[in-house]
Amino acid sequence: MIEIVSATACIACDVCIKVCPTDVFDRGEDGIPVIARQSDCQTCFMCEAYCPVDALYVSPVSDPVGADSPHADEDAVARAGLLGGYREMVGWGRGRTAGSLLDRNPLLKAVPPLPESRLPIPADVVDSPWNHSAQ
Ligand code: SF4
Ligand code: SF4
Repeated sequence: MIEIVSATACIACDVCIKVCPTDVFDRGEDGIPVIARQSDCQTCFMCEAYCPVDALYVSPVSDPVGADSPHADEDAVARAGLLGGYREMVGWGRGRTAGSLLDRNPLLKAVPPLPESRLPIPADVVDSPWNHSAQ
């Protein structure tokens, strides 16, 4: 669930407000988003992924963590390197390696064994649900 908007890092670009599918944020008078409807957050991480300056933190807990949790403490989250941590993990942001290239799940790396002119020749995916034999 969304827990933190860093007012010091935010550049008031409105991107998180626009991408949130459940309209969790309001734009504050200073342009900094306000978490106005936290209970509507569906923990999709989209806002954090799109924030260009790593100013957001979505905790992996699907309920509010409470004010006494380190996951609601901007300093603690920043010290742990978790502000924008999801965005970093998936490889979004200049100079980062795309998460799909680091992924160890062969299903995401492999080209599915179905012909498609815009894809390379289908790979053999051994021992996976995609490896259907021709019938
Ligand atoms: S995690 Fe998803 S639902 Fe929650 S505030 Fe961010 S974009 Fe909205
Ligand atoms: S996407 Fe990031 S920088 Fe842009 S308004 Fe939201 S928190 Fe601020």
